[in-house]
Amino acid sequence: MYGIGILKGLGVTLKHFVETYVDDFRWLGKRYYNEEAYAVRQGPKATGIFTVQYPEEKLIIPENFRYLPFILYEEKDDGSIEDRCTSCGICPKICPPQCIWIVRSNDPETGRPIPAPTEFFIDIDICMSCGLCAEYCPFDAIKMDHVFEIASYERMEHHILNKEQLSKPVSYYSSIQPKNFRREEEARVAKEAAKAAKKKEREAKKAAS
Ligand code: SF4
Ligand code: SF4
Repeated sequence: MYGIGILKGLGVTLKHFVETYVDDFRWLGKRYYNEEAYAVRQGPKATGIFTVQYPEEKLIIPENFRYLPFILYEEKDDGSIEDRCTSCGICPKICPPQCIWIVRSNDPETGRPIPAPTEFFIDIDICMSCGLCAEYCPFDAIKMDHVFEIASYERMEHHILNKEQLSKPVSYYSSIQPKNFRREEEARVAKEAAKAAKKKEREAKKAAS
């Protein structure tokens, strides 16, 4: 019969509408600005129609959320830091809108290039958050950040991020993407073990010949 689909659709809307008031009643006016109620509203048990009261309330960001890239550095036991980036040049090449610029470091004595960046810039007005730079980096040196509240009136200073503004420790990365971090660390350990085993095998062959 004609119109059944429309009636079903209206029924769904009406159900959500009524559930909104039922849920309001259940929380006795504490449905908003309340962490427990907010967790329910954002979870699978949410009922009714509601609004997230941003900025007081913020959606819980999933691990694989991506906004802008940042670059990683390792914190060493002696207090020093070491960039993971080797300035290999892959991410500027792969970036579709070409918004990454890198200046490779040179050895002050020999003048020869060394695997580290002196400068690293990303124009965040051009970045389209595709995540390809993070996907292709062979050194896990660039990752996608969760920070999204970065609006400003000034373009040059705040929207072209330099190496200092882009750099964050590996511990920060592990805090925002714990599963990805664990997976990558396991892969790294396995790769190192395979490399060490091959080296041992080569040395044993050499000693035997
Ligand atoms: S996220 Fe995409 S657009 Fe942004 S810097 Fe990386 S590759 Fe370029
Ligand atoms: S791909 Fe990785 S290592 Fe290579 S320049 Fe980009 S961030 Fe650095």
